[in-house]
Amino acid sequence: MSKKNVVVLGAGSAGTTIVRALTKSLDLSRYDLILLNDRPYFVHLPAMARLATWDDPLGEKAFFDLAQVVPAGKGTFTVGKVVGVAEGAAGAGGELELEGGARIPYAALVVATGSRWPDFIQVPATAAERDAHLGGWHASFKGAEHVVVVGGGSVGIEVPARHPARAEAVGISFVLGNALDAAPGKVSGVTTRDGKSLPDADLVVHAFGAKPNTEILKGAFDDALTARAPSRSTSSLRSAATRRKQAAKANTHAAVAAANVVAFLAGKPLPKSYKGSPEMIMIPLGKSGGAAG
Ligand SMILES: Cc1cc2nc3c(=O)[nH]c(=O)nc-3n(C[C@H](O)[C@H](O)[C@H](O)COP(=O)(O)OP(=O)(O)OC[C@H]3O[C@@H](n4cnc5c(N)ncnc54)[C@H](O)[C@@H]3O)c2cc1C
Repeated sequence: MSKKNVVVLGAGSAGTTIVRALTKSLDLSRYDLILLNDRPYFVHLPAMARLATWDDPLGEKAFFDLAQVVPAGKGTFTVGKVVGVAEGAAGAGGELELEGGARIPYAALVVATGSRWPDFIQVPATAAERDAHLGGWHASFKGAEHVVVVGGGSVGIEVPARHPARAEAVGISFVLGNALDAAPGKVSGVTTRDGKSLPDADLVVHAFGAKPNTEILKGAFDDALTARAPSRSTSSLRSAATRRKQAAKANTHAAVAAANVVAFLAGKPLPKSYKGSPEMIMIPLGKSGGAAG
């Protein structure tokens, strides 16, 4: 009997942790485990606000080759961008459609596609494009004298926090509770929608608008997409949806998802339910090394 595929789509913190769990618990004599991602390399997102602003010695450590995530003989890593999902009868598996037309059938699918982030930390597909993207932002930050950060959430406040000495040497303004229509990048002065003028602003950074990558689920998994939130999930994490989460929650999610995938394939009741994880945010403060607050 030919083996069926179990596909983990998305190789961020969640997908890589789930795949590692499945290499230990999935019956690999019956299933081919596939980790599928649109980039060949892992992105450590928590480092990105630091890396994309000013040149940073930690740069290389934030990325690594995803081929090393799946141990030899336990599964495969494949690069491909999924553009559509087709499911037959509920629970009967389906097929992924990739950019370029290739298709990958699956018996079970874990969707761990994460989110799309603001432009300056949304790195492109290839390593060369990524380096050009980061190099462009480094050059812009290096030449800037007045940076305007739109949004003061966890991404926005990390812009000055990670490079305090450099941030102090330039002016940084935050646009909060207001809107700025300027596109991200170099500018020559800006005015907020309510009329506040920043005539010497020379660089705009968008730090808002992260959106879950759940577009591909439309049609096949409409029941997992709600009108208010782009996705919802059940406590078994069975619906093909991602919870709003942090990298720190990947281990708890992976334990539930991996155990339930194995049970689902065996036609058994799903044994694990997600009980939540502590909510926390760590922002570095201070001028020399920083402290977490
Ligand atoms: C600046 C910043 C600081 C942060 N700080 C922290 C922190 O201190 N602590 C913390 O816990 N969390 C932090 N986070 C959040 C954390 O990084 C994310 O929650 C976490 O990375 C999400 O992991 P994920 O695996 O769900 O998604 P991701 O890491 O985004 O991985 C999803 C993967 O799926 C791929 N993908 C998407 N769509 C497709 C497709 N159609 N086809 C193929 N592949 C696809 C993507 O390319 C990506 O590789 C921070 C995030 C940012 C941006």
